[in-house]
Amino acid sequence: MNSSANISESELKNEVEKLHSLNQLILDSVAEGIYGIDLEANVIFWNKAAEELTGFSMSDFQENNLHNLIHHTNQQGEHVPLTDCPVYHALISGESLFVEDDIFWKKDGTSFPVEYTIKPMQEQGKHVGTVITFRDMSEKIKTEEMLAEWEKLLVVGQMSAGIAHEIRNPITSLKGFVQLMKESKQLNEEYFDIMDSEFNRIETIIKELLMFSKPQKTSFKQHDIKDLVSQVVLLMEPQAVMKNIRLVTNWQSCESVYISCLDHQIKQVFINLIKNAMEAIESDGEIVLTITTGQKEVTITVKDDGPGISPDHVEKLGQPFYSTKESGTGLGMMVTTNIIKNNHRGSLEVESEVGKGTVFEVRLPLVGGKGS
Ligand code: ADP
Ligand code: MG
Repeated sequence: MNSSANISESELKNEVEKLHSLNQLILDSVAEGIYGIDLEANVIFWNKAAEELTGFSMSDFQENNLHNLIHHTNQQGEHVPLTDCPVYHALISGESLFVEDDIFWKKDGTSFPVEYTIKPMQEQGKHVGTVITFRDMSEKIKTEEMLAEWEKLLVVGQMSAGIAHEIRNPITSLKGFVQLMKESKQLNEEYFDIMDSEFNRIETIIKELLMFSKPQKTSFKQHDIKDLVSQVVLLMEPQAVMKNIRLVTNWQSCESVYISCLDHQIKQVFINLIKNAMEAIESDGEIVLTITTGQKEVTITVKDDGPGISPDHVEKLGQPFYSTKESGTGLGMMVTTNIIKNNHRGSLEVESEVGKGTVFEVRLPLVGGKGS
């Protein structure tokens, strides 16, 4: 047996090299991208998965800083200086951090969604750098988008039933007016005004439904949240009327409240919340919607006087396929949470009391407000 005392220098070098290649082998056998940086932000190791995911290899970092290559621009298309980078902050402070909604850039100029964990690297108790483990989230996001689209189509189908019912009434009355004028052989100005407003109502409802159901572009635009919620109320009203549920809106319409959003997604959120409230109430009840503007964010609440949700069930809200309904998908709350938290950097809270009802509170950053 070799005792450490008589290991020659070349043997020691050999051992170190063996250990190094073993380390590299382990690093290269994992599916996650893993890299390490020293306190000066130089890359000290970079595994095979990192190379495959980004297209960059170690030699690329000799001329250019890693941050400038893979992390220079955020999801909103804004430039991120190194000093604003969470990895850099964790490196300086020696803290651990988990980031779940960021993007990295590839050598070919495209980007991909990532989640990553940052852990400080210690050497004999001294903070010497940080290790980042990252994962490509494209597939997971694609699956979530597919589920969201599926849920949306189901909802549109159900809404259409209510809407078909709703537009049958004005059509019947329009037919009646036409009949009346035909019989009297006279044109009546008063009838025209009523007919006109009936036509307009039918047109707006159908336009909304078509807009919502057709595939959407994914670019963020500024929208007045009051308009978006009002359009949703217009769509949901027919179903509410059928179930004898009052949809009460509690806000002044004069001043606009702008948020930067994907409008169809925000509409989907409120359709989900109102639909759940209606299904909870079943019939005869009230849903109250409020919009309150703060300094940096707007708060929208959806309150129902349904049966409420017990605390152990509240915990399950948002888990995929969790549903207490016979024909529920259990996707509504998952999609809602995803749209608000991940896509719009907002928050969603629920307060519920069994026997009294439920309040969902959505907060979204305002345009111009800090933290957006
Ligand atoms: P689904 O509506 O298809 O069941 P969701 O994800 O939309 O799926 O909702 C999950 C579950 O959360 C529902 O089945 C229901 O039990 C509960 N829930 C959601 N909103 C309410 C509400 N306003 N009142 C009572 N229960 C609710
Ligand atoms: Mg639902």
